[in-house]
Amino acid sequence: MNEHPTLLLNKPLQFLKGVGEAKAALFKRLDIYTVGDAITHYPRDYEDRSRLKRLAELQDGEQCSFEGIIASKIVESRPRKGLLVSRVSIKDDTGLIYATWFNQPYLKNNIKTGDRFIFYGTITRKRTFEVLNPVYEKADEEKGPVNTCRIVPVYPATGKLTQNAIRSVIRNAIEVAGNEIIDVLPQWILEKYNLEGFKYSINNIHYPESDKAFLKARERLVFEELLLLQLALLSQKTAADTTDIGIRFKAGEIGKFTATLPFKLTAAQIRVLAEIECDMENGRVMNRLVQGDVGSGKTIIAVLALVKAVRSGYQGALMVPTEILAEQHFRSISPMLETIGIRTALLTGSTGVKASRELLAGIRDGSLDIVIGTHALLEEKVVFDHLGLVVTDEQHRFGVRQRTVLSKKGENPDMIVMTATPIPRTLALILYGDLDISIIDELPPGRKKIETYAVDAGMRERINKFIRKQVSEGRQVYIVCPLVDESDAIEAKSAANHAEELAHKVFSDLTVALIHGRMKAAEKDSVMAGFAAGETDILVSTTVIEVGVNIPNASLMVVENAERFGLAQLHQLRGRVGRGAHQSYCVLFNESKSEIARERMKVMEKTSDGFVISEKDLELRGPGDFFGTRQHGIPELKIANLYRDMDILKKAQEAALLLKEKDKLLKSAENRLLGLAVNKRFTGIANTSRLN
Ligand code: ADP
Ligand code: MG
Repeated sequence: MNEHPTLLLNKPLQFLKGVGEAKAALFKRLDIYTVGDAITHYPRDYEDRSRLKRLAELQDGEQCSFEGIIASKIVESRPRKGLLVSRVSIKDDTGLIYATWFNQPYLKNNIKTGDRFIFYGTITRKRTFEVLNPVYEKADEEKGPVNTCRIVPVYPATGKLTQNAIRSVIRNAIEVAGNEIIDVLPQWILEKYNLEGFKYSINNIHYPESDKAFLKARERLVFEELLLLQLALLSQKTAADTTDIGIRFKAGEIGKFTATLPFKLTAAQIRVLAEIECDMENGRVMNRLVQGDVGSGKTIIAVLALVKAVRSGYQGALMVPTEILAEQHFRSISPMLETIGIRTALLTGSTGVKASRELLAGIRDGSLDIVIGTHALLEEKVVFDHLGLVVTDEQHRFGVRQRTVLSKKGENPDMIVMTATPIPRTLALILYGDLDISIIDELPPGRKKIETYAVDAGMRERINKFIRKQVSEGRQVYIVCPLVDESDAIEAKSAANHAEELAHKVFSDLTVALIHGRMKAAEKDSVMAGFAAGETDILVSTTVIEVGVNIPNASLMVVENAERFGLAQLHQLRGRVGRGAHQSYCVLFNESKSEIARERMKVMEKTSDGFVISEKDLELRGPGDFFGTRQHGIPELKIANLYRDMDILKKAQEAALLLKEKDKLLKSAENRLLGLAVNKRFTGIANTSRLN
């Protein structure tokens, strides 16, 4: 671990009384290594043990705390092998109760006749009062009760550690480190956002004095966590500094070209384009996120911006996450631009050696205007002559850092990132907090809602008939095979088997093709080209077609084992149809009987709004599980909830910007601790990404 503002907090857990090597090892499984880790191991829940009753007041079935004196010696018995029963009577001024514990051999060392204890447990009242396995602690402890008579924390735990053990270690850590708990938040932030101090918050998150105190404590800790995260992310964006001097692109360069398009731009496209043009024409570096649901027409916006850049005398780059998408973009964009004299090139991992040598020379000497490619564009050997605009499509598939790597190949080029993934607003704020956001919130006219049906295997025959019907009407069909976790080799194999079966048995009279990630680029390309040209009726696929693929004649998407997919991913898959004028359909085979799976499928049937879908997904699966959270490089959060803590997130974001404005490196005396905390908590974030 890195240096921490305070020393005690940095000590290994064994520093605490009662923690030996064995126990420390158990705590490591909870990611608790130091005293400081222990105090920030926050409760996942609370149990109200605050009612303290006299014995005569006890009711049958109630859970409560009570205090009494041990009135008898402990009686032990072993009714059968492996079972030890210990029994004792307890009394106060008003009555008597019998307590029984199972398999607690140490009990007789802890509990002695005449001692005063407080207990907590579930009371049964028959002829006598009884309580089974009650929690007990000495009544005359100086520090007061920990496990009884109060609201007690319930912690995330692992098998071998009991709640009592965790509670006592954390309690101990808070007491030992108490005076050293120093606030990393500068005073002005606490005041400006009306936040409690760290010490108060730690005390009250573990042992809340009241509901209000708990809420204030939680608010502060969530704020701190989100602030640290924001600061860490902000320090990543080195190339994307809005104060840098950028290029002033020429105004009025694309009107004529726009008029030659086969369709009229939607109002939303026109608005977003205006926002982009405005950014490009002024002297600041543009950092703009274009967010728009699948099929909203983002590609053409990218093309228009690229044309503007080229017409202003610069080169442009368009980076996409998959080869299929790069090839598709190249096929549709390059002929369009050729007519106006703009030279476009395609560069992917499978561009041949000779071809790529020529390409690289053209990019370097400036004779090529626009390069479309995969992350192959990030390689060092790709050198631009005068790169002015960088567009990243399907940005959610790239790591946070990658978007800046390409920018560094120009001198403060403008940047557009586009995402179709309906990521929840909260996540967008975190990931793209440093970007301006444009939203295309309108689909091109004439699109019909995609009819979606969740079905089970019993519907197989009918769906096959339906597939046939679509094909007989001249349409085309995608069938997406189940996600296979173990490896994409197995996934490819199962897709191949499925395609084989369909081609030779079920649809032997139709043309069935197969595409998966294990195929060579040239092969993939020719399969996609065949499907685009309408030569293939049914395309059996793995999720390689998930993003971006645009074949307007396809009208039916069938997803096998849909329950294995994230809702956002299903929404993306569904977005492969409904791109033309034909009524389109999506069939989701759900093999799971689980309530949640059923509910998730229902969301898909009911909604076509990507934002609603992703927020539902987050709600149903929880943020830790949200597809892409890890993909995005967002680390696990200890207390903040990206779904619910939106308000706090906004404040934290504002504070992060204010801090960075005043003290970019967080080196001043008042911010130094904060800077250290950022490093400690979130070093190395945003290095992760999933590329395919
Ligand atoms: P996405 O936002 O998912 O990337 P695309 O850019 O692939 O969407 O566009 C989807 C389809 O809609 C394409 O076939 C594209 O040519 C078409 N399109 C885009 N804008 C319009 C428009 N204003 N009117 C009609 N069709 C459009
Ligand atoms: Mg797209």
